[in-house]
Amino acid sequence: MRKIFALLIILVLVSVGIFGFTRYRQSNVLVEEADQLLKEGKTTLAIGVYEKAKAAFPLRSDIDQSINGAKLVQLSDTNYKQFTEVDLEIENAEIQAVPDITNIPIIPLKPNQILVPILMYHHIRINPKPNDSLWASLNVSPSQLEAQFQYLNSHDYHTITLGQMLDALNNKAILPKNPIVLSFDDGYRNFYENAYPLLKKYNLKAIQFVITDVQNYPAYLTWNQIIEMDKSGLVEFGAHTKHHPNLPDLSQAAIIDEVKGSKKDIESHLKKPTNWFAYPYGSYNNFILKAVKDAGYLGAASTIYGSVQESNKLFLMPRIMVDGRFSLMDFTKRIS
Ligand SMILES: [Zn+2]
Repeated sequence: MRKIFALLIILVLVSVGIFGFTRYRQSNVLVEEADQLLKEGKTTLAIGVYEKAKAAFPLRSDIDQSINGAKLVQLSDTNYKQFTEVDLEIENAEIQAVPDITNIPIIPLKPNQILVPILMYHHIRINPKPNDSLWASLNVSPSQLEAQFQYLNSHDYHTITLGQMLDALNNKAILPKNPIVLSFDDGYRNFYENAYPLLKKYNLKAIQFVITDVQNYPAYLTWNQIIEMDKSGLVEFGAHTKHHPNLPDLSQAAIIDEVKGSKKDIESHLKKPTNWFAYPYGSYNNFILKAVKDAGYLGAASTIYGSVQESNKLFLMPRIMVDGRFSLMDFTKRIS
C-alpha cells in the first residue's frame, strides 16, 4: 500500500514537472516572438504576446519586466499612440497651440532679451495618417522641410547653436544676422534619413533632443547614427529623458534619474558634455526645473510659444513649433 502511494506521488510529481516544463517552453517561444515584434516596432502586438507568455508561465517575473519595458516604448512610440490613450491634458502639451500670428503684439526687447526663434520639429516624413489632424501637425514632409531650408538660406537667416545664443545673452558673442535655432524632438530615425541629408545640403546646424533608452527600436536613431551626426559638426545632441515620461507624474527620485540619466547616456556615447534638455510634452514643475539645473544643464527648451530669449529664462526657452500643415507663408510669418 505504502509503495503504491509513493509511486502515485512520484507519478504526480513527474506529471507536474512535465506540464511545467512544457508551459515554460511555451512561454519561451512566445517571449521570443514578442521580442521580435518589439524589434519590428509592433509594440502593441508585442505586449499582447508577452501577456500570453506570462499566462503560460505566471511565475516568470522577467516577463513582467519585458511588459513594462514594452509599455514604456509604446508611450514614447513614433506613432504617438499616447495621444489616443491618455488624458487630453498630456495629449495637447507637446503639440503646442499655435497662436494666430495676427494677434502677436510686437514688444520692444529688454536689455537681457534677444530675438532668436527656436524652431521645434518632430517627424520628418510623409505623414502616414493624412486624415488625422494630430499626425498632420507632427509630421513635416521632407519637401516641406527643404522648402523651409531654402527659404532660410535665401533670406539671410543663420542657424546658430544654443551655446552661441547663450554667449550672446551673456554679451560674450555677437550673433550673425537673423539668427535661428533648428530643434528636433524625440530622436526619430527619420531625422537621420530625411533631415540630416538636407542639413548637409544647405549647411545648416541643428539640435536633436533624444530619448536615450530607445536606441534599439527601429523608429529611433541608433547610437552609431547619433555619433556620426555629432562628428559632422552640424548636429548637436540634447537630452529628452530616458523614456519620455510625463515628468510631473513621476516620483522625485525617478525624475532625477530621467534627467541625469539621459545626460549621462549621451555623454558616455559622445564623450563630451551635453548642455541642453527638453521637457517631454513640455511638462514641468518647480522640482523638475531645479532637477534640470542641478544636473548641470545650461538650459532647457519648453513648448511655450515665442521667439524672445531671455538670460533669466534659460530653463524655459520658448520655441515655435513647425506644424506639418503650415504653408511656406505660415512658416515665414512665424519666424520674421
Ligand atoms: Zn518629445
